[in-house]
Amino acid sequence: MRVYNFSAGPSMLPESVLAKAASEMLDYNGSGQSVMEMSHRSRVYEEIINGCESVLREVLSIPDNYKVLFLQGGASSQFSMIPLNLMNGSGKADFVISGMWAKKAYAEASRYGSCKAVASSADKTFTYIPKLDPDTFTKDADYFHICHNNTIYGTRFTELPDTGNVPLVADMSSDILSAPIDVSKFGLIYAGAQKNMGPAGLTVVIIREDLIGHARDITPTMMDYKIHAENGSMYNTPPCYSIYICKLVLEWLRDEIGGLEKMKELNERKAGILYSFLDSSSMFKGTVEKADRSLMNIPFVTGNEELDKKFCKQSEAAGFVNLKGHRSVGGMRASIYNAMPEQGLKDLVAFMKKFEEENK
Ligand code: PMP
Repeated sequence: MRVYNFSAGPSMLPESVLAKAASEMLDYNGSGQSVMEMSHRSRVYEEIINGCESVLREVLSIPDNYKVLFLQGGASSQFSMIPLNLMNGSGKADFVISGMWAKKAYAEASRYGSCKAVASSADKTFTYIPKLDPDTFTKDADYFHICHNNTIYGTRFTELPDTGNVPLVADMSSDILSAPIDVSKFGLIYAGAQKNMGPAGLTVVIIREDLIGHARDITPTMMDYKIHAENGSMYNTPPCYSIYICKLVLEWLRDEIGGLEKMKELNERKAGILYSFLDSSSMFKGTVEKADRSLMNIPFVTGNEELDKKFCKQSEAAGFVNLKGHRSVGGMRASIYNAMPEQGLKDLVAFMKKFEEENK
């Protein structure tokens, strides 16, 4: 029996994608081999990687002057790859410190240049998105970095900062493909695939073409966007199987869900089920400011650590797994990415109501 998996990532994949991958495991499309076994230089694999890029472009409406790169090393590698490639003018960059991942991106970039934290919500344990004042932005910064959805704390940007000519760089690891976005507002978008796109091992970078080709001299070859762009993400062996699953996920999103507008509606409905329960419950409470609530990661607490522990244990046994909050926050967190079915939220809320009744 499959469980409802509320993990922050790796996380659930659509069941139909898993079934399709299983049916193609031994013999992909008459090739007599699995995707895991085939040469990345073969015609059959080229169709997979090109297909993945073209569905991604279609679903996200990526303009022609952006390159899509399929990389490895996780979103964490981008924390250094971005400054190595982009911090090549003034050597300055601005950061919004809205959570732990934003802080890590800031700390890593600070090894390469002069980084400024233009705003932070550390004062209230990152339970809100800080207000931004464009007058404090560095006018000649090489880029401006945000973490679009804060996986650990459960907040998200609902409005983008106006950075003028300074390229906006966004970590979208935990909310890419959850709703439509205007790619042209960004210089660079990056995401580890293991939440909304596919399995771990694949990192997707969407980068405006004019930002490619200016890497510092010391940049390792494998960290240079130009190398990957010129070689169609095939400078070395790409994460072949993860790209294949990503293609299936994108096809599911386009064909079964009906695209990103539909995905957004569904995600709002799913998150709404849990948020409205949290707002009415006398035991469970959401932990972040309502206006900044994430649609993907929903942290909550009972206010009593013992009760939190009991809830995690009992929910796990009932088939709602990985609800334990991040170790830095405690409490619970429900990560409800695209592949979490609406029924998962309905069943979870029913379970929470029952728990509340039994533990009054
Ligand atoms: N950024 C965000 C917003 C994340 O949620 C994560 C992982 N949970 C990371 C970066 C780090 O990603 P990776 O493990 O792929 O390096």
